Order: sequence, then C-alpha cells, then structure tokens
Amino acid sequence: LLTGRVQRLHSALLKASTKIKDIEENAQRDALLGCYNRRYIVAVLEEQKRVADETGTDLCLAVIDLDYFKLVNDEAGHLAGDDVLRTFARIAQDNVRQGDVFGRYGGEEFLLVLPETSLLAALNSAERIREQVESYAWSGKLKRSITVSIGLTQYIPGESGLDLFSRTDTAMYMAKRGGRNQVVVEEPTVQFWQTSGC
Ligand code: GH3
Ligand code: MG
Ligand code: MG
Repeated sequence: LLTGRVQRLHSALLKASTKIKDIEENAQRDALLGCYNRRYIVAVLEEQKRVADETGTDLCLAVIDLDYFKLVNDEAGHLAGDDVLRTFARIAQDNVRQGDVFGRYGGEEFLLVLPETSLLAALNSAERIREQVESYAWSGKLKRSITVSIGLTQYIPGESGLDLFSRTDTAMYMAKRGGRNQVVVEEPTVQFWQTSGC
C-alpha cells in the first residue's frame, strides 16, 4: 500500500516539475513568434556583458527592424503581417550561429546578441540575415518586398546596457536613413587612457 502511494507521489512530482519547466520556458518566449521575448533577451544581454567584462572577450549587438512594415500590414492585412513576422523570426534563427541569441524587443524590432564574436564575424552574421530575408520567396499576396535594416555595434567594456542599445539603435536608424535593406556598423571611437608618467 505504502509503495503504491510513494509511486503515485513520485509521478505527481515528476508531472509538476515538467509543468514548471514548461511554464519557465514559455515565460521566456514571445507568444506570437515563438522566439525569445524582450525580458529574456535583455537579461541575456546583461549576462553576456558581465561575461565579456570578466573574460575580456568580444561581444556584439544587432538591432533588426523590418522595413516599411506598417505598409505591409496596410496592404496585406494584419494576419499576413503576423505571418511575415513569424517567417522572419524563423529565417533569423536559422541563420545565427550557435551561441548567438535572437529575440523580439517589441513590435517589428528584434535584438541579436552575439557573444564571443568579433565585429567582423558579427557583420557576416548580420549581412547573412539581411540577404536571406531579401531573397526569401515571400507570399505572392504581399505587394512589396520584405527587407530589414540592421544596426550593429561592439560592446565597449564597462558601458551600460542602455548605452550599448542606444548606439546600436542609432546605427539601425542610420541604415533606415541610408535607404533601408542594409547593415550599418557603429564603430566605437577608440579611447586612449594616459597613465601618469607617460
Ligand atoms: P520603417 O521602415 O521606418 O521601420 O517603417 P515601419 O512601417 O516598419 O515602421 P513603423 O514604426 O511606422 O510601423 C511599424 C508597424 O509594425 C506598425 C505596427 O502596427 C506593426 N506591428 C507591430 N507589431 C506587430 C505585430 O505583432 N503584428 C503585426 N501584423 N504588425 C505589427
Ligand atoms: Mg520598421
Ligand atoms: Mg520599428
């Protein structure tokens, strides 16, 4: 009798812990797109900043924004717009390297965190995503081509998450101003620290 009760308790515990894992996993995900959500991607960025500070490794950040997405909605409808977002998220995820973390920051704006990645390697990833989005066989019902503008920066050790995001976002807006469907890199200005006696 006791063994049966212990077994039932054990299986109830297992079920509960699986449920908790599911809830935790869902809390990290965007409900519409399935990719990581804002809370998670921002937490990843903070964590990777800390790792970069500790280890001295490179860290890059990309802000990706769909071009003229309001017009896509206006012309093809909001549900078709949702489909475009879903497909875009899949393309981006299929084209990042293992270790890179991609998530939705809000609306049609996304973040890509690239740990242990030089600016040049990050540029390759960003350019690959841009190119794959441009060349994807999008639904014929869409009246315009789907493209993205990407801003890219390398983390300056010690800078705040807000400053890093702001520099990256500025680069993304430069990509918009430059005609969209392009990657713009914001290179940190080189800083020289003078030690006393030098
Ligand atoms: P730009 O090239 O300058 O980025 O122009 P844009 O039209 O993409 O930018 P804007 O900020 O004017 O419009 C963004 C649009 O994205 C407006 C909003 O309705 C749409 N949007 C945001 N979230 C969603 C979503 O979850 N689904 C759909 N279908 N549309 C969304
Ligand atoms: Mg946009
Ligand atoms: Mg936007």
